[in-house]
Amino acid sequence: MERAQLLSLTQAELAGFLRDLDPAPFRAKQVGQWLARGASIEEMTNLPAALRARLAERAVANPVSIRERFCSKIDDTQKLLYELPDGNLIEGVVMRYHYGDTLCLSTQVGCRMGCRFCASTLNGRVRDLTAGEMLGQVVAVDRMLASDGRKVHNIVLMGSGEPLDNYENTMKFLRLVNSPERTNISLRNVSLSTCGLTPQMRAFAKEGLPVTLSISLHAPNDAVRKRLLPVANAYSMEDVLSAAREYVDATGRRVIFEYALVKGVNCELRHADELAQRLRGLRCHVNLIPLNAVRERDLHPPTRADVEAFLRRLEARRISATVRREMGADIEGACGQLRRRVLEQRREP
Ligand code: SAH
Repeated sequence: MERAQLLSLTQAELAGFLRDLDPAPFRAKQVGQWLARGASIEEMTNLPAALRARLAERAVANPVSIRERFCSKIDDTQKLLYELPDGNLIEGVVMRYHYGDTLCLSTQVGCRMGCRFCASTLNGRVRDLTAGEMLGQVVAVDRMLASDGRKVHNIVLMGSGEPLDNYENTMKFLRLVNSPERTNISLRNVSLSTCGLTPQMRAFAKEGLPVTLSISLHAPNDAVRKRLLPVANAYSMEDVLSAAREYVDATGRRVIFEYALVKGVNCELRHADELAQRLRGLRCHVNLIPLNAVRERDLHPPTRADVEAFLRRLEARRISATVRREMGADIEGACGQLRRRVLEQRREP
């Protein structure tokens, strides 16, 4: 029998699950508190030993375990490799900012979106993560950071996977991570990044959650976008921008456009002009990301001077923009690179 993942359950669902094993009404509260701390069932020492044994047969507390940890010597960024109950591996990044720690979270094992520059998608999607496997990353990292007096303050759904391609589990995760009985993290401190699945973006706008929506635009028009993102063949930029506008209207929050600068593809000044033209009047911010070159792809970042010029051109056109600071450059901080190397090493012992 496959064991239930307790971290996937809401407090009410947890109470229902436990009722069959132990009639005491306070068990759910006790177990919920342990789950939020990232404890295993064996560690839930205020439960009777017999209950712990029965629970352990039927359930796992946290399905996510940290298998490896790499610390950047440059900027204190930590790259994590996690293992799931079925042996699959996912990765995460903890970035230390002056206002607290930000955790970059994965939502799928692999990805099927096929973006040309991304290492997470090279072997396609293996499977979706459950809500508990997303929350499990948060509690595992919180537990790891606790010894330094730190905790997860912000979450960005920017690890491997397309969160809106795993819609229901991602929505459940957002409600769990925000719930006072679990990690109680404000959704204002959460960003969800999508490559632009417009039907799901529209549905997400209607959820009424104060999450920051990041949209991977990466281009000023459809022709350039199709060179980098296969999803652009399904949804036009006009459609993406109109879904973005709906999100701003529904939530009152500005959206973030991510724009990876790729040499020879999308970073000339005419591209900045066209982008500014397209974004005019939309409450947004543009995050420029000099491409993180991936070994398997023949794509490269532009020069530093080109990045600066692109930024200045957007600013001159009154578009709010910044260049994202590169972090963890010495520990394969970019999407999907670490998991990929480990999988390759498994193949060639
Ligand atoms: N699937 C989601 C979130 C995951 S990726 C999405 O597409 O938005 C998070 C961000 O990193 C996306 O903007 C993605 O396009 C970008 N990204 C992926 N690989 C990159 C690379 N090699 N260099 C720069 N940005 C990259």
